[in-house]
Parts: sequence; C-alpha cells; structure tokens
Amino acid sequence: MPYDSENVFAKILRGEMPCHKVYENESTVAFMDIMPMSDGHVLVVPRSPAENIFDLDEEYLKEVTKTTKLLSHAIKKALDPSGLIVKQFNGSDAGQTVFHYHMHIIPVYNGAPNKNHGYEMEKPERLESIAQIIAAKL
Ligand code: 5GP
Repeated sequence: MPYDSENVFAKILRGEMPCHKVYENESTVAFMDIMPMSDGHVLVVPRSPAENIFDLDEEYLKEVTKTTKLLSHAIKKALDPSGLIVKQFNGSDAGQTVFHYHMHIIPVYNGAPNKNHGYEMEKPERLESIAQIIAAKL
C-alpha cells in the first residue's frame, strides 16, 4: 500500500493538526497519545513518510530509538512508573491503526492493567499537564 500523506500523524508533523508535544528534534517528534493506555503514554514519530518498519530508513530507526530512550528516562523521572512498555505495530493484522511509523512508550503502574490502545479519549487538559511534567524532566 502506498504511504497516505493524509494520515493523522503526517498532518501533525505538518502542523495541520494539534498535538500535546513533549519533545522534537530534526528527525523525530514525541507527543501524547490522545487515547492513552495509561498516564504518560507517548508516541515517538519520525519525520519521514514511512508506513512501517519495512519502509523506514535505518537512520530514522536509529533516531526514533534515541528519542525513545530519552523520553523513557524522562517519563520514569516524571511519573515514577513501576514498568515501561516500548512497542510498535506493523500492519492492521498486528494492530496498527495509524499508517505512519510510530513507537509507543507506555508506563505501567504497580501491576495495574493498562487500557486497550486507541480506545478512550483523554481530556486535553490532562494530556497537556502530563506532557509538561514529562518535558520538564528532559
Ligand atoms: P497504532 O495502533 O497505529 O500503533 O496506534 C495508533 C495510536 O495513535 C493509538 O494509540 C491512538 O490512540 C493514537 N491516535 C490516533 N489518532 C490520534 C491523534 O489524532 N492524535 C494523537 N496524539 N494520537 C492519536
């Protein structure tokens, strides 16, 4: 399937849609998932029109990994989760719903079960305040 430049993350990268941004650099942007699995669920998105792991250039993969590590440390410092899941879906059969490559960073709190991803919208004010708490620890 060719890359669809009208997907929501492409629109966020172009500034056509808002997001609760936590961090950005030349190659990546990290922002809050609007339907988080837990408090502090962050997405790391490369500034490259790639749908999945098969399409993404290795240099961008490296940059996504670097940003994921940076954000993981900031989330740990900011929110003190007891665990942290880092995962990524390729193809609708694997659970991918937005077809621009992205990494999920999902905190876990003392064994509490996380919600399904992409399931329930979080209040914008709550997402923004968590984004600021994480950004302050970068
Ligand atoms: P996927 O299933 O493709 O790995 O995950 C896509 C994620 O993007 C889901 O967790 C969903 O909650 C999130 N999402 C969907 N639409 C938007 C949006 O417009 N903005 C943000 N920030 N996240 C979104």
